[in-house]
Amino acid sequence: MSTMIAIPSFGRAVAAPVTERVQRTVPVRAAAAMHAPVSAVSCQGVTKEFGANGTRTLALRGVDVEMHDGKLTLLVGPSGCGKTTLISIVAGLLNPTQGTVSVFGTDLSKLSGRKLVEFRAHNVGFVFQQYNLLPALSAAENAAVPLIINGWPRAKAIAKARAMLVTVGLEKRADNFPSQLSGGEQQRVAIARALINEPRLLVCDEPTSALDARSGQTVMELIKQVAVEPGRAVIVVTHDSRVYDFGDRIVEMTDGRISSERAADRDAESAWPRRTESASYKGLNPISVVGGAQ
Ligand code: ADP
Repeated sequence: MSTMIAIPSFGRAVAAPVTERVQRTVPVRAAAAMHAPVSAVSCQGVTKEFGANGTRTLALRGVDVEMHDGKLTLLVGPSGCGKTTLISIVAGLLNPTQGTVSVFGTDLSKLSGRKLVEFRAHNVGFVFQQYNLLPALSAAENAAVPLIINGWPRAKAIAKARAMLVTVGLEKRADNFPSQLSGGEQQRVAIARALINEPRLLVCDEPTSALDARSGQTVMELIKQVAVEPGRAVIVVTHDSRVYDFGDRIVEMTDGRISSERAADRDAESAWPRRTESASYKGLNPISVVGGAQ
């Protein structure tokens, strides 16, 4: 006889014989391994050199770091320490000079040309500090751009973009142009665009630094709520200490190296006061509800 049991973290149901289930004992080491964090991003010995001879800059001096599945990792450190260089390499936008980077088990150095572009298009979403929306396109059209680039028919792409704008709380703004939206709303459109392909890795470079306190908090709540789940990972570069409260792990860089790594301190005082009413995105589902990518 068999019965269905759920694997809680993935919500999948598998058949297992009741007798086997009752008798099975989990060895301590195996149980510990089950709880070990799963690596979403793994960097080993990553260096990056810009320029040559007289103008040579060593932006990364040997970075070893793991970023975990289902977690929001904050990458912090002073200006010029290499944060943007590191996330550009992790996102496959820049090649390292030395070292290896793997994203959800794929070694990026093994991909080149079209394969790397395809990997990026299906697995990585990017959110920029200045939103980078196209001014002549509406919010829905901006959010649909990655799908249209991937060959989706326009009407289908716009329909999915509209659904994604519902997820980020902007359904009423779908036909507005960027100039008709506030900074926080533009960043939410940019998040919708970054998530439209349901990427496993979302990389955000200073997503709140151009926003006022309330919009910044809204954007971080949104990222946390819709993009952090098992099978996905989020990296947020920030020097905004108000964002610290939203991270699961804090990775600190100094002068091209990782100088510390720690779990976020949940009891830390946040400079953004916690809202007493339920947050704007409570009850919204993660991005996978929007529908499968083509
Ligand atoms: P952060 O994001 O922490 O401010 P960056 O990764 O942007 O730091 O830069 C790290 C170092 O690399 C800095 O000294 C910067 O001037 C240098 N750098 C970054 N990009 C380039 C480039 N394209 N050409 C030359 N130097 C660069």
